[in-house]
Amino acid sequence: MRYLIGNWKSNENNTQTKLWLETFKNNQPPSKIDLSTIVCMPFTNLAEANRYVAEFNLPIQIGAQDVSAFPSGSHTGGITAGMLSELIGFCLVGHSERRQELGEDSDMVTSKAKILLESSITPIVCIDEPYLEEQVKSLYTGKVAIEKCLFAYEPLLAIGSGKPAVPDDVERVAAKINFLTDSVCPVIYGGSVGEANITSFASLPNISGVLVGTNSLDPKTFVKLMSCV
Ligand code: PEP
Repeated sequence: MRYLIGNWKSNENNTQTKLWLETFKNNQPPSKIDLSTIVCMPFTNLAEANRYVAEFNLPIQIGAQDVSAFPSGSHTGGITAGMLSELIGFCLVGHSERRQELGEDSDMVTSKAKILLESSITPIVCIDEPYLEEQVKSLYTGKVAIEKCLFAYEPLLAIGSGKPAVPDDVERVAAKINFLTDSVCPVIYGGSVGEANITSFASLPNISGVLVGTNSLDPKTFVKLMSCV
């Protein structure tokens, strides 16, 4: 299976989401059966987006960008995996922006991955070289079913900078993740992926697809990327 995953971050309200999905519908390429196209969007858009995806019969799955590390209960503001399970099949965890801005660490990311799997949601575990081994070890220690996760290798300097990583380096790190995890889960690359460079990452032997931030916000660009994964 190949993966194209969009990460909208803190962008797009419900009106903009509907417009995005309508534009996608009017420009979509012929569907590829071996391609999983997932768009991770803000919590507030998930229900409405699901309605449109079903109504327009779009070849897209909706994902979230985070989940509470806690179960339901007295955790004000927390969006639990149980709440999300009615809406999504995939969820990002441990994005470097959350690690930097909100102090999320590898053990918290492990708790989130675990709680997602208990609700049958696939965690997309974001990872970078400085904490790669620590994160994988934490997942094993936390008894997370790694074979049910996806790993997104996202080098910090490449995210949102317009300066993608060097494909040889991506291949080296992806091979390391595969070595540490016995190659039981797909590894994708994220960081300034666009039309000009997607093939150089998607074609790497240890890479199963890409995670796209900035260039997922334009549905016409996103559609073009679908043909290149
Ligand atoms: C991201 O932040 O997950 C990402 C891939 O962003 P960008 O494509 O903008 O580098």
